[in-house]
Amino acid sequence: MCLFCKIAAGEIPSNKVYEDETILAFRDINPQAPVHVLVIPKIHIPSLDGITPENSAVVTHLFECIPSIAKEAGLVNGYRLVSNCGPDACQSVPHLHFHLLGGKQLSETMN
Ligand code: AMP
Repeated sequence: MCLFCKIAAGEIPSNKVYEDETILAFRDINPQAPVHVLVIPKIHIPSLDGITPENSAVVTHLFECIPSIAKEAGLVNGYRLVSNCGPDACQSVPHLHFHLLGGKQLSETMN
């Protein structure tokens, strides 16, 4: 089982900010901004490249939850949502996740 599958299963503790039947949001252990939340599907999807017609409903649901997760995290002045996919993007955990970042003026650059 991968690291985020273990977090989703509760085998490894996390600082949860939102959870329902299919997704989980928790604080990043090494925050890159005052607010840095990771949002994951509970099912194992390795990366953006693993999204298919069979599993995309959970991804749609995850996106539908972003506004309320952001609001609950106090991101009233905007935020950034990022997903690293593969080695060029420095993906380090092979389980689809979205970085929800904010709580300060973020940089204009994306790279
Ligand atoms: P990425 O590099 O895009 O794959 O992002 C993986 C993220 O997972 C990094 O920002 C890490 O800080 C974060 N991370 C790794 N292990 C944990 C953990 N046990 N709990 C919370 N966040 C973690």
